[in-house]
Amino acid sequence: MPHSLFISDLHLCAKQPHTARVFLHFMQYTAPRAEALYILGDLFESWAGDDDLDAPFHRQITCALRALSAGGTRVFLMHGNRDLLMGKALEQASGATLLPDPALLGLYGTPTLLTHGDALCTGDAAYQSYRSQVREPAWQQEFLAQPLAQRRAFIGQLRARSENEKLRKDGGIMDVNDAATANLLREHGYPRLIHGHTHRPGRHMHRVDGHDCERWVLGDWGDTGNALRCDAAGCGREVIICNSPA
Ligand code: MN
Repeated sequence: MPHSLFISDLHLCAKQPHTARVFLHFMQYTAPRAEALYILGDLFESWAGDDDLDAPFHRQITCALRALSAGGTRVFLMHGNRDLLMGKALEQASGATLLPDPALLGLYGTPTLLTHGDALCTGDAAYQSYRSQVREPAWQQEFLAQPLAQRRAFIGQLRARSENEKLRKDGGIMDVNDAATANLLREHGYPRLIHGHTHRPGRHMHRVDGHDCERWVLGDWGDTGNALRCDAAGCGREVIICNSPA
């Protein structure tokens, strides 16, 4: 049956080789059966800029994306908060198409809105102000003008600080905000919503202005992967396991 797959929050990095193996397994055996693969942000643990494409680990991942698109599965990428700086060169190297956030699809007859999900976490005011800063083209231009090594170091420090802050933040503010979600659904004509970011996989129903909207939350990857598979009959979750040795 024609279907599309949705994944997010893989946080791929050379330091987590097993997760990368699960991803490569998925790309070889599961994804080619789909018409389209949508990666809704945080494919990479970090992305210092497209000049980081030459790192052997990044080459391996972009080659897998390219092989999938060459085989006839369309590949779409959305920025997450970790890989916000993915750009044109990555698009070219991977054969993937960058999508705006949010992006509205007519998915087998059901209007479906895709977003990474961080914009909906409006309870975390400090994060939202950081988010708007790093999405400024001027900020990105200035950042990308720094040497790659310096950018990588800066991102490393930022991660350490954010992990620290996460421990002190109340869990509620780290989830999507109901009012922000309702506003987004209203703005786009009450579609089905698919997002990641929160690492709280699930299916929720939102009643907005008398419309029932389905919200699917994708899970993060680790020892296993997970994907949402959607076809004309609806969506369902799939677990990806890879037992092949290191
Ligand atoms: Mn995220």
